[in-house]
Amino acid sequence: MSVTATAIPSSPADDAAHPLPPRLLGLTHLANNIAWSWNRDARNLFREIDETLWQQLQHNPILLLRYVPAERLATLAANPEFCARYDRVMRWLAAEHNDEHTWYAQTYPELRGKPVAYFCAEFGFHNSVPIYSGGLGVLAGDHCKSASDLGVPLVGMGIFYRDGYFDQRVGPDGWQTDSPDSFDLTSVPIQPVPGIGGEPYLTSVRTFGRDVYIRVWRMMVGRVPVYLLDSDLEENHQDDRPLLSKLYAGGPALRLRQEWLLGVGGVRVLQALGIAPAAWHANEGHAGFMLLERVRALCADGVPFDDAVKQVRASSVFTTHTPVPAGHDQFSVEQVQECAGPIWEEMGVPAEKVLQIGFHPSAGRGVFHMTAACIRLSRRVNGVSERHGAVSRVLCNPLWPDRKADDVPVGHITNGVHLATWMANPIMQLLDEHLGTVWGAERDRTMWERVLTLDDEKLWGTHLRLKHVLMRLVREKARQNYRKGMLQSPQLVGAGTLLDPHALTIGFARRFATYKRANLLFRDVERLRKLVTNSARPVQFVFSGKAHPADTPGKQVLQSVYQFTRDPQFEGRIAFIEDYGMHLAHLLVQGVDLWMNLPRVPLEASGTSGMKAGLNGVPQLSTIDGWWEEGYDGTNGWAIEPEVDDDIGDRTADRLYTLLEEQIVPAFYDRDDEDVPTRWLATMKNAIRVAGTQFTGRRMVEQYVRAYYAPAILGDALQDDPPVS
Ligand SMILES: *Cc1c(COP(=O)(O)O)cnc(C)c1O
Repeated sequence: MSVTATAIPSSPADDAAHPLPPRLLGLTHLANNIAWSWNRDARNLFREIDETLWQQLQHNPILLLRYVPAERLATLAANPEFCARYDRVMRWLAAEHNDEHTWYAQTYPELRGKPVAYFCAEFGFHNSVPIYSGGLGVLAGDHCKSASDLGVPLVGMGIFYRDGYFDQRVGPDGWQTDSPDSFDLTSVPIQPVPGIGGEPYLTSVRTFGRDVYIRVWRMMVGRVPVYLLDSDLEENHQDDRPLLSKLYAGGPALRLRQEWLLGVGGVRVLQALGIAPAAWHANEGHAGFMLLERVRALCADGVPFDDAVKQVRASSVFTTHTPVPAGHDQFSVEQVQECAGPIWEEMGVPAEKVLQIGFHPSAGRGVFHMTAACIRLSRRVNGVSERHGAVSRVLCNPLWPDRKADDVPVGHITNGVHLATWMANPIMQLLDEHLGTVWGAERDRTMWERVLTLDDEKLWGTHLRLKHVLMRLVREKARQNYRKGMLQSPQLVGAGTLLDPHALTIGFARRFATYKRANLLFRDVERLRKLVTNSARPVQFVFSGKAHPADTPGKQVLQSVYQFTRDPQFEGRIAFIEDYGMHLAHLLVQGVDLWMNLPRVPLEASGTSGMKAGLNGVPQLSTIDGWWEEGYDGTNGWAIEPEVDDDIGDRTADRLYTLLEEQIVPAFYDRDDEDVPTRWLATMKNAIRVAGTQFTGRRMVEQYVRAYYAPAILGDALQDDPPVS
């Protein structure tokens, strides 16, 4: 959701950014490190500059500093209280440049300064930088943020998608239309990295018979630099200039080139910058060519191919995120040969030997399977939840045909979410008061137990405030879109304008992929109608999410859900909010009463939005899949047991209605004399406790360091266990 020109106030001085008052000069620096987004004082500082503008610009500090009137800044520069708050933020920012007191520096002093490269095809850091599409990107962003907090010397590598992802509009007929989401380079916190010797590019990669020159943008994520590759250069053939501009667009041929440029280009860029990683992490198969390029580079230095493969394996980590065979990136070997050729010449081996690296017995000889390639070139491999680890061992079993699935060397590290990004300010304040001020850095179980003694009325009051923020935003968004002619009057009800802040509000927001089954709720329309329209105990649902532009079945699910939002029999209690992204995700996970997730088991590798909700005291109702198998403990939400033969979902739907009717609605409306739902609050507190103890990015990155990064850097004598070749 990019900021459209209409959101920006017009004033004559618009484009000529006025200089900041000398007293507040550091604000530019602050706005250019995305760490501001997870520091409460920094966020508050920007908000204080101009609250209305801050909202309108969807929390983009670079634009805020450009559009705020100079007089306002002058006033603030003369305000001692503001300046004191400013100074405090500046001290924090300065400390961000030093990692001496971090967990990593204290736990692994000998590993300080040894970089860990982290490659991923997308990164979701903040709404103002739209180079992500969904869960994988947001997870990668949270990984970098948590690494920064912990002092892990991570270096990110990704792609600078100039055209962003896409803006979603849903027409009166419920059909999603996708409009480009390009963004203004001067509105995002990225800096161009100069090339060597005055060239604009840092490296080049040969593909399909042409050299593609690559330039690089750097984004600072706290202490972690993330480099983003870009091929839009005059030096490139005009067909190659847009190769990296669009995220997940085009067919496999374009995907292949993007992955090739990311992997090969990324390794060369690090080398050009003089960064020599001691461990390398490929996050999902898209990043796999990074491993191959390192084999090539070693061979070019005279290392024999088989030894090069061993060396690369020893220092590499691969995380798979896909629980179904079809979800793994696969290319035809002819395509790969055309794209990559002739790197085998430099490797001193026949092409077949290189292509063999991507051989997966289940996919056949003609296929280069990215997951198989990553597994052959990484000694450490993991899935993203306990259940997904087990599913991955089965999927990968053909690579170790003489073993039982349980003995396949694929582990798991369950995903986590970056607490300071996802927990709402008011909840953090409540925890400050209750737990003391250092709780954010703690992973101590007994400390999180103390959440259970939070004051009921305070927690409920805080939650209601957040719920109001959500409903107000939903109404304002509808109002703006109506004004701009993007919503017609009959659509206003479906946009959530009739939502009632007192009613039990259930959120469902995620990619509209068919396996996520957003439409399962409507299996029995009459039963649902009774639940929703009960005048004493009403229930409302807020949906949000994009379908991938090429996913027609996903768009059909969205359309069917959308039509219910307009159906008068539901009294305006079912809403669909357009253009799901990180901004909306924040408001939803913080402002609904219950988070719903209905993936067809076992198709959700982990899922993370329910963890974000949990941190805000929003319990989850979900099928037992992904993280919920570990996360659900009977106190922190509700679970729908998997039904083995329930492909069509009838039994899951029945269980869903029953849980709502018999447990969830009664618990929510069971109030004491002060109208406080004591029973519900116990579930809320447990949701915070479990998410805080087990599902933060801190826990996740600590595990990656202990289990994978540190051993890889130290070259531990782990027995090597490669798959068959
Ligand atoms: C967290 C998040 C996701 C991933 O949510 P799931 O629970 O894995 O479906 C997707 N999109 C956005 C914008 C998010 O913030």
